[in-house]
Amino acid sequence: MKNVISLKDLEQMVRNGQSVSNLPADSILTPSAREFLHDLEMHPAPGKSPDKATPDVSSKPQPPSKPLTSKSSKAELETFFNSPYAHSLKEQICEMGHRLWKRAYVDGNGGNMAIRVGEDIAICTPTLVSKGSLKPEDMCLVDFEGNQLCGTKKRTSEILMHLQMMKRQPKAIATCHCHPPYATAFAVAGVAPPTCMLPEYEVFCAVGVAPYRTPGSPEMGKLVADLTDQYNTILMANHGVVTWSHNNIEEAYWRMEIIEAYCRTIVVAGQLGKPINTFTGPQMKDLLNIKQSLGFVDPRFGMKECELCDSGEWRPGVSCAVPPKQETGAGYDAEAEKVVQAITDQILAQMK
Ligand SMILES: [Zn+2]
Repeated sequence: MKNVISLKDLEQMVRNGQSVSNLPADSILTPSAREFLHDLEMHPAPGKSPDKATPDVSSKPQPPSKPLTSKSSKAELETFFNSPYAHSLKEQICEMGHRLWKRAYVDGNGGNMAIRVGEDIAICTPTLVSKGSLKPEDMCLVDFEGNQLCGTKKRTSEILMHLQMMKRQPKAIATCHCHPPYATAFAVAGVAPPTCMLPEYEVFCAVGVAPYRTPGSPEMGKLVADLTDQYNTILMANHGVVTWSHNNIEEAYWRMEIIEAYCRTIVVAGQLGKPINTFTGPQMKDLLNIKQSLGFVDPRFGMKECELCDSGEWRPGVSCAVPPKQETGAGYDAEAEKVVQAITDQILAQMK
């Protein structure tokens, strides 16, 4: 007997830490299982090493064995802030800053990032420094109220939003904010981009829109933080975009590249004078299954297939526009059957 392997089987294997690269040669993969494997090959989950070519992590600086908090002593915080581990995180922020600047996702000294490094402390970018010239020594350490604990430069004025996101969404360990032009254009229009068109966007991003408030104000932070339960990519009306990741700062940065490329693509697609093709419900469901297996959030988990792509808006809680198929006796309707029988009987009686 052939061994059929479904998406569920693969997800279970991944959850159990089993390798999915040595499946039996005679095994048959369901289409969604095939897609899942393909996606794993193309984009191994950040933080997890792919089965092959496991990188040597022993040489990487390790986090402190006892996590620090804002209550730790000044000396402990300074030691941590100047440790090789903290330095490696500062370097990651600098690299993401340089990429943001090279891609023109930031302007002037705009854009800011933060990484949670303890229960209620975070490393973040300074104010008034271009992301194109960030250096590790520019970074700051703050508590979750925004008080600066370490660092010679002053922390970003938009830090409250990052911290409110981390407080509200315990899974958020890294946050990234910038002003990529195409995605920001959607934010200016107050429109979440239409969905069901490109797989990368559907798997990596879940996009919500927060109304405008003054940048850096607690009200702005609260409105964004309230969306982090269900969204990892938030358009800030008349301002820009902020993303978060439960893995690392690079993944939060990837979300910027992905939403920006997506917004740019659909603007161009809209100019081609052809109707835009979208995913079917089952195709979309497959992508959401992959998304769920990667631990990302999305308000559409649990929605019916027919609800996923039949509208420009996500409508959690709204019942399907397409009536569900009857479970038993396909097409059988007892009432109609009775009427048909009665008419047949009459015709037969007349013929006799
Ligand atoms: Zn901004």
